[in-house]
Amino acid sequence: MIFIDFDGTITENDVGYEMFKKFTSAATEPIVQAYRRGKVNSLDCLTRECEIWNESSIDHTKVFAYLDDQTLRPGIEKFLIELGKLQIKPMILSEGFDFYIDRILSSHKLGNLERVTNIARFEKGRISPEFPHYKFGCLECSSCKGYHIRRLRPPNSCAIYIGDGHSDLHASLTADIVFARSHLAELLEGAKRRFFAYGTFHDISAELKNIRQIGLFAQSEKINFCRFSERYKEKIHKLWESGEVMSYVGYPFGLGWSRARFNDHWKKLLRDEQAIYLALEDNSGNFLGEGKIAFPDEDGFCQPDMKLLPEFWGQGLGFEAWHIILERIGARWPEAGIVVTPNIENSRAIKLYRSLGFKFIGDEYLWEPPESDFGAVPVCYRRMVKKGVASGKNI
Ligand SMILES: [Mg+2]
Ligand SMILES: [Zn+2]
Repeated sequence: MIFIDFDGTITENDVGYEMFKKFTSAATEPIVQAYRRGKVNSLDCLTRECEIWNESSIDHTKVFAYLDDQTLRPGIEKFLIELGKLQIKPMILSEGFDFYIDRILSSHKLGNLERVTNIARFEKGRISPEFPHYKFGCLECSSCKGYHIRRLRPPNSCAIYIGDGHSDLHASLTADIVFARSHLAELLEGAKRRFFAYGTFHDISAELKNIRQIGLFAQSEKINFCRFSERYKEKIHKLWESGEVMSYVGYPFGLGWSRARFNDHWKKLLRDEQAIYLALEDNSGNFLGEGKIAFPDEDGFCQPDMKLLPEFWGQGLGFEAWHIILERIGARWPEAGIVVTPNIENSRAIKLYRSLGFKFIGDEYLWEPPESDFGAVPVCYRRMVKKGVASGKNI
């Protein structure tokens, strides 16, 4: 799914911000700057901007003329046509007000784009705002875009966000792939969060082609997380048949499956809608291993998994991969707990899980392999649990 900011993203100008500034002779500037420094939240900022606006009598015809002058970011029309061909329905998420967003979209024949915005009556030059989404979100944003993404996307889909400003931060932490420019790019650099830089929608169109080609789902500094597809099938097979990789889960000679059994299982994974299966690649396209994001069980616990080929052990890639897996779980299910079940002899894995915030819980258990699995050995394991990455922070 693709979510797009409006002001300064679809439009070239940050229309809402500049409209308030222009028609109040910059009287709104101090409160906006306070918002950008994190001193007030966007609800208070927007409310105050409307109050300042209503203190002077503003000629609505001049406001409409200003809105009708606004231009869209180059490439948006072509981008939307391409999405249409791919049967992707984009959704605008904005903390701006419907009266000016609707007017600008309609004047560019984009009035049918789906959107979630704040609401304001604009009558006789006065603005009466309403914030119908505020109470459901993070209670900082006037209409939390992170909340909207969680609410609107199916958990097994990849959410792409395109934005430019401070109000896009919660969306950017929730989405799996982010396109950013301007203030948002600076914020994400500061937060060490990966993003694609863009100037126009032509840039985004070109990148989206690559993303679809490799099935990119998420990205960290060194790792591309790509959806399982035929292009990874043989590599995954090799990974599962590695004794070194599988020894701690009871298969010191690899799974030893017949080709038919592997093919059957592979087909099932591709159809599984309760988990996201990911092939891990480095930036040059070398296969590193696999990751799995499993949906929460009835008790609210996710049980993800990650395996790397031995030649990539000991380079910090395991930590980086787990970090993204936990982050993507937190972005979907902020309240979910996360469980891993390391072999009690696998001190490397236990150390890694500890460094990610997992703690041992409960007793040791013995897993016995099915008799049909020749060469498999029993495994003594113990659960480790971590609370969701975003738990308590309802973004
Ligand atoms: Mg914006
Ligand atoms: Zn928020």
